[in-house]
Amino acid sequence: MIRCGSHTSESDIENLNLLRDQRKLSHLTADVILNIPVQYIIVTDGSFTVTLNQLQKQHQVINQIYKGENNDDLDQLPNNSKYPYQPIKGNPNISFTPQILTIEQIKIITNTSLNYSSVNDIENNIPNGTKLAKGLNIYVTKLENQILGIAKSIPSQACAVDYRTIGNKEVPGIFGNTYGQGKTLAHEIGHCFGLVHPFSSAKCTSRLSLFLDKE
Ligand SMILES: [Zn+2]
Repeated sequence: MIRCGSHTSESDIENLNLLRDQRKLSHLTADVILNIPVQYIIVTDGSFTVTLNQLQKQHQVINQIYKGENNDDLDQLPNNSKYPYQPIKGNPNISFTPQILTIEQIKIITNTSLNYSSVNDIENNIPNGTKLAKGLNIYVTKLENQILGIAKSIPSQACAVDYRTIGNKEVPGIFGNTYGQGKTLAHEIGHCFGLVHPFSSAKCTSRLSLFLDKE
């Protein structure tokens, strides 16, 4: 199982400095909530679908996680010299809008060439005008070789997750209690915001203005 196909891996902890820098930015203080519009784009060959209920549960998961309300996991954050994550939990406050997902934020594209290995692959196979210009585009499809999720780039406005990861704790996707609780999407959105893995040497800058009307 490849958890995330977004990038390469090497040892690097500078990402934590990046996270701390982000907290210092005035528009990311804890009392300001950033509203980021989202659109879910299901790309399917007809052999599978994802229900509105599943997507709503998934949407709840990302909203909980980015507001620091994922109480089932907060105590699992490592807090040692190599991975001092506890001090940065639950900040900034990001809200993916609308809070309650409706059918208007969901598009379904029928396409026979699945097993995508990159977001570019997907975008090359869907009609122009499908994407949300300002906001976050989330592709739900079947990915290659059991990749769970991929961000388009770091940072970017688009990511893709395998449809079997969509759900939450109560209503997990096909991957069940291991990878079906909706956390793959939360992970990939982190990449969209400019965060890299602690074990990646990739340098990046976060530009939330990609997602927001206000620069
Ligand atoms: Zn990743």
